[in-house]
Amino acid sequence: MKIIGLLGGMSWESTATYYRLINEEVKSRLGGLHSAKIFMYSVDFEEIEILQHEDRWDEAAELLIDGAQRVERGGADFLVICTNTMHRLAKDVQSSLKIPLLHIADATAEKIKEENINRIGLLGTRFTMEQDFYCGRLSSRHGLSVLTPNQSDRNFVHSVIYDELCLGKIIDNSRQRFLEIIKELISRGAEGIVLGCTEISLLVSPTDCSVPTFDTTEIHALRAVDWALL
Ligand code: GLU
Repeated sequence: MKIIGLLGGMSWESTATYYRLINEEVKSRLGGLHSAKIFMYSVDFEEIEILQHEDRWDEAAELLIDGAQRVERGGADFLVICTNTMHRLAKDVQSSLKIPLLHIADATAEKIKEENINRIGLLGTRFTMEQDFYCGRLSSRHGLSVLTPNQSDRNFVHSVIYDELCLGKIIDNSRQRFLEIIKELISRGAEGIVLGCTEISLLVSPTDCSVPTFDTTEIHALRAVDWALL
């Protein structure tokens, strides 16, 4: 079994989910007392969040590269960055490492294509919904057509992620509004919804939606197990 390298803490609420899902999956595939071999470095998210919102991505890259290199030195065979948003820096991180990076958007796109879905609605941070590193990758590299909510709904989704979900606050009114935003995306033609932030599955479950949902945390964690057990 390979050693999975986790670069976590963005936020720790979802990194805890990664840790649980990866271990549950290894246990279910191998049985007995088997569990995953993991080396994790977890950041202080407050430092990262300030740099993101002040548009200081070069400094954020330095922090991420430092964490990723610690994981590599710890002996991990590959790296999983436990957040969609920070994949904005995936190229910088990958070029600082010898071990491969398991890209969350690629794992998600492959899963979507397996379901023969072409047009998806994307929920995530404003960075993920608006910037090319994620939306662009889904469309140009994977040929998917990506719909995002309107500006005020994007602002709402973004603020729920940082002000509630990353702080472990699960609020029913926010869930209701998320479901309305999802309905709106479906009415515009979305055949599936990408939960493109690793905390959204704490709020929205697949049974809440009338089309398939693609939970990036689960997809990424299970793909990490595929790589570990190859
Ligand atoms: N975990 C979130 C994501 O998947 C947001 C936190 C962050 O900014 O990294 O995008």
